[in-house]
Amino acid sequence: MKIAMASPEIVPFAKTGGLADVAGSLPLALEGLGVQVSLIMPAYSVIPGKFFLRDTGIELAVPVSHRFELGRVLEGKTGKGIRVYFIQADKYFARDNLYTTPEGDYFDNAERFVFFSRAILELLRKVGPLDILHCHDWQTALAPTFLKAASEAYPELAGVKTVFTIHNLGYQGVFWHLDWYLLNLDWKYFAPKYLEFYGMINYLKGGIVFADAVTTVSKKYAEEIKTEEFGFGLEGVLQERAGALHGILNGVDYREWSPKTDRFIKKNYTPRDLSGKRSCKRDLQKAYGIPMRRVIPLIGMISRLADQKGLDLLAEIMDDLMGMELQFVLLGTGEKRYHEFFEEIRGRFVEKCGIRLDFDNTLAHKIEAGADIFLMPSRYEPCGLNQIYSLKYGTIPVVRGTGGLDDTIQEFDPATGKGNGFKFQECTGTAFLSAIKRAIETYKDRALWRRLIRNAMAADFSWKRSAKEYLRLYQSLV
Ligand code: ADP
Repeated sequence: MKIAMASPEIVPFAKTGGLADVAGSLPLALEGLGVQVSLIMPAYSVIPGKFFLRDTGIELAVPVSHRFELGRVLEGKTGKGIRVYFIQADKYFARDNLYTTPEGDYFDNAERFVFFSRAILELLRKVGPLDILHCHDWQTALAPTFLKAASEAYPELAGVKTVFTIHNLGYQGVFWHLDWYLLNLDWKYFAPKYLEFYGMINYLKGGIVFADAVTTVSKKYAEEIKTEEFGFGLEGVLQERAGALHGILNGVDYREWSPKTDRFIKKNYTPRDLSGKRSCKRDLQKAYGIPMRRVIPLIGMISRLADQKGLDLLAEIMDDLMGMELQFVLLGTGEKRYHEFFEEIRGRFVEKCGIRLDFDNTLAHKIEAGADIFLMPSRYEPCGLNQIYSLKYGTIPVVRGTGGLDDTIQEFDPATGKGNGFKFQECTGTAFLSAIKRAIETYKDRALWRRLIRNAMAADFSWKRSAKEYLRLYQSLV
């Protein structure tokens, strides 16, 4: 079985969110199952120089509108022997960010990802036979689209089956109709049945309509996105494709995210000996310059600062929270108004509250290890990785019961000692605060809290099971 996987971001080369973690770790798990897999991503100039990408000498003439744009193919490696192809075109990818700046999206994203999607196919026709092309998110959704809607241009790829994974339906790559000329597709595809979306062009919709199989990252989210509440206007087309739509829970890479081996944290620890976690708590308090208090609960949060993440719920209860006996640390970047909000909070509660408005992988690891409680009040959450990491670090998640959060977290029941976190359903500050209070009450009972930590740390969301599900799906297609 030969698979090519295309993603706009892949760990360890470039990352803005969970997609990069998945696109980095799923291939490793597939390799472990004996699948031959290669990866394709853009050669962003922000990829650190330490990766030494080799120039393959392969040049691509990529159709964009009526022109051909040139791309060069660089090569790197991940896992034991996974080849990673990087499409280099400085005009599109030599920038400070991947897709967006604090002031807004790059103006030419429509063109950048037409180029990338076409370049994927140009590359694949050159590098030989393939069974499956697996694409991730709107930035690659046009590859399965072109493969079907312009199949005459790709005779070498006629037998290739496509899988398209939706990591977040909130990001669809929607552009105005005047960009249609970039795609070089027959006008008949600018119709509601295909890529048209309320007068605009919707790239993600192309992936959903044209891929042979569509997956998303948890069972619950696969159900939710067929409803008006979570479908972002695509619930109709997702209902139509329900037969081809599968929910496969993301796995995580415990080689990167385990307190037993984590290179970024002060002291490693295991469920049997949690003393290292106390050192990590002190280290985290030090990193944020807040008082080193051992017994009061330290609450952590790592998040893109976007509406999806339920930050308005947090804002609503912030004063109540700060009135309680606890400390709070946040790591995140995103929308300007949330930056302003958290800057104000930092000024008001210097002693209790640490705020870092930055993207910092080392600090993310320190929070997972050093905090006692982890917050994810998301309005919707396709899978969510941080709550899964938190479990492994014995950092108890307080989550809203949506998408992957609902699939992975069970409310702790002090009577039976079962459960691994705290969960609320109603999307209100009151419900959120009450779940945090349940966590803090439990925290005060040391024996009960240790039991809860053991439950959490025992959870196994490694890729083993999920990678097998993907493999079964690939096999069913070929
Ligand atoms: P999403 O993909 O919606 O952002 P996930 O929970 O699936 O949410 O994945 C988020 C990933 O990005 C996690 O690995 C998390 O540690 C990381 N992350 C998010 N924000 C930051 C940040 N400011 N600094 C470092 N890592 C971050």
